[in-house]
Amino acid sequence: MVKQTQLFDCQSSNPTNKLTFYSDIEKLNRACSTCARCSLSQKRQQVVIGRGKINPDIAIVGEAPGKQEDKAGQAFVGESGKFFLKILKAVQLDSSVYFTNIVRCQPPDNRKPTAEEIKACQPYLIDELRLIKPKIIICAGATAVAGLTGKRESITSLRGNWLDWEGTAVMPLFHPAYLLRHPSLEKDSPKWQTWQDLIAVKLKLERIIASEIRN
Ligand code: URA
Repeated sequence: MVKQTQLFDCQSSNPTNKLTFYSDIEKLNRACSTCARCSLSQKRQQVVIGRGKINPDIAIVGEAPGKQEDKAGQAFVGESGKFFLKILKAVQLDSSVYFTNIVRCQPPDNRKPTAEEIKACQPYLIDELRLIKPKIIICAGATAVAGLTGKRESITSLRGNWLDWEGTAVMPLFHPAYLLRHPSLEKDSPKWQTWQDLIAVKLKLERIIASEIRN
């Protein structure tokens, strides 16, 4: 029986060759379902796994599951997820999407996950992204950016600027919950800026697909 601590060894000893500890996403999800690597496991109803297409055009990485997700056991099934799909649809980016989170259990009172909780869950996220192989990653909010890339800045300065994770382009966006609280569509409003960011994602995706077809 392999110990979950070996998950860390596997990844840290192979930071560039992208080896995965689990051979497929079902095995990863099965392992997560009984995870007790941090104290979030004590209060959860269930572990919240990623959902969507394998080899998607876009993987959305959020901060942490909320109440609806805790109940359903799947990422982004609540208001934020519905709103995300709506804005992706508006730029025709909704057909090949995978949703996941930095941590897989709901933090109490929807607080931000702590550094320890993020660290405990990180091996799952790394394996998950290596297994599903998205063409582009969108990080929703500053916690998601920090949890995935280690870059700690405000989302206002991060958004709209491409980052890299293991050779995959990463676009930081405002979190959908923030956009729901700031409904203005005025020029330079968060929603307006998100629209520009999604157009940039669409253009990058078209270039990636064109180059895949060429090669
Ligand atoms: N639901 C999720 O699954 N993740 C978030 O970040 C917010 C809501």
